[in-house]
Amino acid sequence: MHILLTNDDGIYAPGIAALKHQIQTLGQITVVAPDIEQSGVGHSITFSHPLRIREVRLNNEFIGYGVNGSPADCVKLAAFEIMKKGPDVVISGLNMGANVGIHILYSGTVAAAVEAAIMGFPSIAVSFEITDRYADVAAAAKVARDVIERIIKHKLPKGSLLNVNIPARPPEQIKGIKVTRQFAHDFKETFDKRTDPSGRAYYWLMGTNKSIHREEGTDLTAVNDGYISITPLRYDLTDHGMHKKIETWDWNIES
Ligand code: MN
Repeated sequence: MHILLTNDDGIYAPGIAALKHQIQTLGQITVVAPDIEQSGVGHSITFSHPLRIREVRLNNEFIGYGVNGSPADCVKLAAFEIMKKGPDVVISGLNMGANVGIHILYSGTVAAAVEAAIMGFPSIAVSFEITDRYADVAAAAKVARDVIERIIKHKLPKGSLLNVNIPARPPEQIKGIKVTRQFAHDFKETFDKRTDPSGRAYYWLMGTNKSIHREEGTDLTAVNDGYISITPLRYDLTDHGMHKKIETWDWNIES
């Protein structure tokens, strides 16, 4: 099995190294990742400047291909240019920080998995809810490997991807795995307004994973309760209910 491993934290990030270490016995691993951090870039693609692929070495060891672009760029370049055949599965992670609820829409980690799904490759995004209290990346990567192994035993349907989130706690304190849906409401977010040395205001987005209310069955609640969350996602954003409804509206153009 040939696995494409990517992320949005950048090719030197600890999460991708830890996950590579854990999954190397599952198959042949090709790492193609952004050369600098791309967290929060969502599903952006690069077409206004040239993309370059660089062979990246760390401690004299080849670790993968660095791309001066987004996670989605990495998946496209990996499939079209770097890998001889397309990957059998694409794994994006291990991201430093949970990707639950509407954060999925901003996430470069999830976007890489979405890009893979669009291209017809089975894909999994894996994120780790890192906190000030707990940040054992190696332990989380081990947990991630166990989940990935369970997933790849099955055939993922085309056009779908799985979004995995691991709670910030030691493996022995994780309560289990829950199949969830995306929490679809907003989070408590604010801007911290500050003043720069020349007296002008600047703003810093202050985000949390604390929701306005608790909703059972969601990715957010599962992770907050100490469970690994697995959410199947689709990139077809059509609102079928709304489609039915607005079809009945008057769309006739008088001539
Ligand atoms: Mn990230």
